[in-house]
Amino acid sequence: KRSWLSRLKAGLSKTSSTLTTLFVGARIDDDLYEELESALLVSDAGVEATQFLLDALKKKVKEEKLTEAEQVKTALKTLLLDLLTPLEKPLELGRHQPLVMMISGVNGAGKTTTIGKLAKHLQTHHQSVVLAAGDTFRAAAREQLTIWGERNNVTVISQESGDPAAVAFDAVASAKARGTDVVMVDTAGRLPTQLHLMEELKKIKRVIAKGMDSAPHEVLLIIDGNTGQNALAQVKAFDDALGLTGLVITKLDGTAKGGVLAAIAKTRPIPVYFIGIGEQIEDLQPFNAQEFVDALLN
Ligand code: GDP
Repeated sequence: KRSWLSRLKAGLSKTSSTLTTLFVGARIDDDLYEELESALLVSDAGVEATQFLLDALKKKVKEEKLTEAEQVKTALKTLLLDLLTPLEKPLELGRHQPLVMMISGVNGAGKTTTIGKLAKHLQTHHQSVVLAAGDTFRAAAREQLTIWGERNNVTVISQESGDPAAVAFDAVASAKARGTDVVMVDTAGRLPTQLHLMEELKKIKRVIAKGMDSAPHEVLLIIDGNTGQNALAQVKAFDDALGLTGLVITKLDGTAKGGVLAAIAKTRPIPVYFIGIGEQIEDLQPFNAQEFVDALLN
């Protein structure tokens, strides 16, 4: 079985091949910068981060009198690392009993899969987990979740005709009563028409705080790394409404959009707790800026 690092490399190869090849045998001139600019934009680094990186790179090339394309690539790696390092922050466990995490994300982002992976991760770190099935709008999802919970030693709190905020409140109460370490509150990623998703999520957040003063301690957004600039729009919208504490970026295996992390770092530097690099339960890794940059530019 290949290590996760080699899978990350393979996963980001679509992004890295365009970025890396343009340096091969290149002269340091306007053409190189132009090619780099479009490669960064194609990788979804966004206008702001792309401009920032290009300006910083030109400055560095001048100051350090770089003459080889290979040196320019190394300089770019350093700049990317500086940009992405602030996103690197581990999810700290054991700060609260229970630690309450609200999990948000639009449908299809990989929320259900990520919750499963997170539950596994938490159990590996000796944390007991209760899950609030707060996505009450997907009926089948609730049943699936209960079966999944039984198999994986995760108590799932759900309600037949549930109000998601009430489900969240019950889960927090249950965790307090049983001494469970972590509560994960799943939330809807899309609502039947008319209702406003953000209002619904804000309400859930308020009701969680009624169950436990300091909670939720974490508000996570799960985003699909393939959606590029749309991912950035989601980060902004959810952060404005909920005040995000962390991100999980999924599907970074096989994407040409790995640059989106640079866009996030430049515009909304919210910690990236984990990255998803596959569909299996173990395909979740804490974000490490150095490893990511190495995979991106090799
Ligand atoms: P939800 O609608 O947000 O709950 O999304 P799901 O968890 O159902 O995931 C949607 C699809 O994305 C499923 O086919 C998952 O297997 C897939 N998926 C989730 N995370 C990853 C990942 O990190 N890599 C890959 N390749 N697929 C993923």
